[in-house]
Amino acid sequence: MSARRFFVEGAHARGSRVIITGGDARKIVSVLRLGDGDRIEVVDSTGAAFDARLQVDGGLVEATLVDVLERAPDDRRSIDVAQAVPKGTKMDFVVEKATELGAAAILPFYSERSVVRDAGAGKAERWRRVAKAAAQQSGRRNVPAVESPIEFASLVSRFSRYDLVLFPWELADRVPLRETLPALLAGARRVLVVVGPEGGFSHTEADAATAAGGRTVWLGHRILRTETAAMVLLAILEYV
Ligand code: SAH
Repeated sequence: MSARRFFVEGAHARGSRVIITGGDARKIVSVLRLGDGDRIEVVDSTGAAFDARLQVDGGLVEATLVDVLERAPDDRRSIDVAQAVPKGTKMDFVVEKATELGAAAILPFYSERSVVRDAGAGKAERWRRVAKAAAQQSGRRNVPAVESPIEFASLVSRFSRYDLVLFPWELADRVPLRETLPALLAGARRVLVVVGPEGGFSHTEADAATAAGGRTVWLGHRILRTETAAMVLLAILEYV
């Protein structure tokens, strides 16, 4: 599509019509030999990308913005996933699913009850390859950053970089997310989701997280496996 990507000034919305002028119009007509009904990609000044249909009438080239391919960066909520490194190859699964579900970055960490204390050299590299493959497979335009594992305390010290830190904890107040999320998400651009290890978070960790601004959330009566929790929360955030 990149040969067919054209930048048009101004902020636009789906459904609107834009006029393409100058060299771009000449390229469409004379070089690419596109005509009425052909598709191009239009990117506007805010960085929003649209799937667009051409109308060509002599030298006049217009395009109708049919669909939003990518919203403007300022318009998007970015969600990072911090995941306590699980046993075996389960982290591969978490990285793959988090990538499919749009996570911006993945931050592996070790906590008090982590079974895995040292994932071993090369693991982060392996996860980065998994993220790249999943990004390609799912048609993402970018690959989420996968960091090398850090300790829980370092993770907590980074909470201040986010507008909202969601800390799923099975011992949190039993209030359904449906009731808590809308208010929590209002105005939150940078969101971090922190999922605990197989053994769960300790009270001390939950206290530390809360003291640093994390919001404990309850995901329902059933205990989800650590590799399920991130997926569920990302899917819910996508829906909201
Ligand atoms: N301590 C638990 C298991 C932890 S599940 C036990 O063994 O009984 C692993 C992680 O998934 C938790 O740390 C939490 O972050 C998340 N999680 C799973 N089920 C959850 C629920 N119902 N509510 C909130 N968080 C949950």
